[in-house]
Amino acid sequence: MPKIHLPTPLRPYADGASSVDVHGSTVAEALGGLVTRYGGLRRHLYDEAGKLRSFVNVYRNEEDVRYLQREATPLSPSDSLSIIPSIAGGKAAPPAPADAVTLSNEEVRRYSRHLIMPEVGLEGQKKLKAARVLAIGTGGLGSPLSLYLAAAGVGTIGLVDFDVVDDSNLQRQILFGTEDVGRSKLQAASERLRGVNPNIHIVPFDTRLTSENALDILQGFDIVADGTDNFPTRYLVNDACVLTGKPNVYASIFRFEGQASVFWAEKGPCYRCLYSEPPPPGLVPSCAEGGVLGILPGLLGVVQATETIKLILGEGEPLVGRLLLVDALSMRFRELKLHKNPECVICGPNPTVTKLIDYEAFCGVAAEAPAAAVPEVTVEELKAIREREEDFVLLDVREPHEISICAFPESVKIPLGKLTENLHRLSTADEIVVHCKLGGRSAKAVELLRQSGFRKVRNLAGGIDRWAERIDRSMPRY
Ligand SMILES: [Zn+2]
Repeated sequence: MPKIHLPTPLRPYADGASSVDVHGSTVAEALGGLVTRYGGLRRHLYDEAGKLRSFVNVYRNEEDVRYLQREATPLSPSDSLSIIPSIAGGKAAPPAPADAVTLSNEEVRRYSRHLIMPEVGLEGQKKLKAARVLAIGTGGLGSPLSLYLAAAGVGTIGLVDFDVVDDSNLQRQILFGTEDVGRSKLQAASERLRGVNPNIHIVPFDTRLTSENALDILQGFDIVADGTDNFPTRYLVNDACVLTGKPNVYASIFRFEGQASVFWAEKGPCYRCLYSEPPPPGLVPSCAEGGVLGILPGLLGVVQATETIKLILGEGEPLVGRLLLVDALSMRFRELKLHKNPECVICGPNPTVTKLIDYEAFCGVAAEAPAAAVPEVTVEELKAIREREEDFVLLDVREPHEISICAFPESVKIPLGKLTENLHRLSTADEIVVHCKLGGRSAKAVELLRQSGFRKVRNLAGGIDRWAERIDRSMPRY
């Protein structure tokens, strides 16, 4: 008869039982039998419409039934079900002490190259199996990181992502293949990792990490690996790790350069000791604006995986208090010493940040959006203006290497950085429409032109990318 394991918070509704034997040949039948026997459980597991609540995850043996056939997943008498109440997508099981973990014969064969190394051995492999690592993001860094952790036998890997696979991800996000474009990253990543190693447990969190959910999500993990590419999340991950005492294996990338470190407030500095405040919005371009060499996140994600595995094994010298700088163009690896800042607002002796804050506001993201303040035209309006052959100037403020990919033939081409010295090429008497790739740089150009006395100047909302998306499908998008 299938067995249902109940988590601690639900046991009071089942006469204190930690597991219950039930009849049923599917997950739905077994859960139905459970709530028939223990009526008090029903409202915890099902909503008013009789649907399984979204924060309740059910596993058949080691597998999340959402990735099997959901409630129609068949059960055999030897199967067991585990109910894992989740916060926004899932929660890891409580840690299994490494000495309570055993390896099957298949696992011994799979990990034999680890087992014959004295630094890992059977004990180390059991530590890896008992370990619970949370990867924030399944993108460029998260791909190699999670693939190597899965292959190495890290027993529980949490994944946080809410995105969908896009064509432009495939250049570096090696978790995904061409056939995954349009799919949920979380689902595609979970399948891929399970394909690499069916012995491990994947805990997906289909959400953006926020101040509201971060502490709950982190709770189920021992080590956090930050693979995000934006400042609000980076500070959020740092602060959440400091507040919960967990190590934060960090990396970031831009074009040909990368950084990595292990921020662990109990043993060394945190990210805020290094950068107490974020750069002003717009100063540091994102990879979407500035680009990134596809293999660079591969290099840095592997550094993160290496540091994570070292922390689990307790072997070697971790990157605590050291910032590794990688320059792929010169292929030089440098190292900076990091110091704990005695005045750090979160990990110092007199912290002023004692709970998670509004990181969007802290990083000035909410105040950014200059595009809203400048007059705009839509791509549809631009199409109409061009078709009416109205007298106007189309100004392209992108860089030459972008213009070689796609451009409007009639546009005046002046990169944003050279606009001030080229104002004489434009006339304040003309109607001017400014565009760039996505609309951000051109909004800055519109502001600059207005400050210089141009009144009839408007920004193309969404840039040439939206034009290619909505108006001219033959134009390449980049
Ligand atoms: Zn600090």
